[in-house]
Amino acid sequence: MNEFALIDHYFKALAERAGGPGCDLGIGDDCALVTVPPGQQLAITADTLVAGVHFPRETAPFDIGYKALAVNLSDLASSGARPAWFSLCLTLPQREAAWLDDFCAGLAALMEQVPVRLIGGDTTRGPLSITIQALGWVEKGKALRRDGGRPGDDIYVSGQIGAAGAGLRLVQTPSPWPADDTDGLAPAREAAVQRLNRPAPRNRLGESLVGEASACIDISDGLLADLGHLLDSSGTGATLDLARIPLAELLNTPAGLARLGLNADAARLFALGAGDDYELCFTAPPARRETIAALSARAGVTVTCIGTLTDRPGTLIDTASGQPLPATGYTHF
Ligand code: ADP
Ligand code: MG
Repeated sequence: MNEFALIDHYFKALAERAGGPGCDLGIGDDCALVTVPPGQQLAITADTLVAGVHFPRETAPFDIGYKALAVNLSDLASSGARPAWFSLCLTLPQREAAWLDDFCAGLAALMEQVPVRLIGGDTTRGPLSITIQALGWVEKGKALRRDGGRPGDDIYVSGQIGAAGAGLRLVQTPSPWPADDTDGLAPAREAAVQRLNRPAPRNRLGESLVGEASACIDISDGLLADLGHLLDSSGTGATLDLARIPLAELLNTPAGLARLGLNADAARLFALGAGDDYELCFTAPPARRETIAALSARAGVTVTCIGTLTDRPGTLIDTASGQPLPATGYTHF
């Protein structure tokens, strides 16, 4: 199969799946052409996943496809943009049909949950790397940004924190898991590894927060690090109530902590610094509490208030101790 037959077989087929808005010209020409509805702004994001850096080399191709799209959809969610289109730039060491089948199945699985259309890309040979660029739209001037937070706003986080980090820890240090599941943790372990490999982008929630949230960011490098970006952009500080931070089940039960070799305090810090959650961290004035609760229920995603923005830029204070918290998280350099 030559390069063009490969593109036709795998990617044109994927592009022709139902879902997502149409495009004026898709795969097969030099550029794709799309039309953004009147009154909307185009939201554009891209993320690269490199084997051995962003995912363990032994990650299943299905999960690689799923995650490559999920992290991009998460950026659209955090901007409050509705996903519309994406392009796929794939660098592959070799053309392996089974690998490509599974990779495309992973993409298709997420495209089914969050309708979005494949409109183009590039295919080259080299060390495994996947770059997806996703495009969406949001009403002009209404996108959620990092810089809209104001002192007094509540700070919220969606879902639970630390599952993907715990999953990575389990994948990297395969402790002998009791085969008979004596501590009953097999489902929590499965959920953590699943969260690492197949993040759940919060697109319904993100879109519904437009006009309600004052600022928003998605958590890719750890809650503390990403909240830190929001604080820097908004020119505020924050107090955080650590006891209210919703922890993943493995980090929240004695059996889970024993498995991970962490005590309760260490688990909390671990969760605050662990990356790959792809939850939304956002702010809203206290007057919006009932609305936020209603939007959370409608999106089917729990949302927890974990703190407050303050007028002291550069400070992040633990409410219980009154002490500063470290701005930790994953950075590349
Ligand atoms: P060009 O040489 O003009 O850049 P290519 O030969 O790279 O074009 O690609 C041919 C067509 O196939 C283009 O429309 C491109 O968008 C599409 N394409 C190539 N690789 C992919 C891919 N991995 N996923 C989706 N579309 C792809
Ligand atoms: Mg060309």
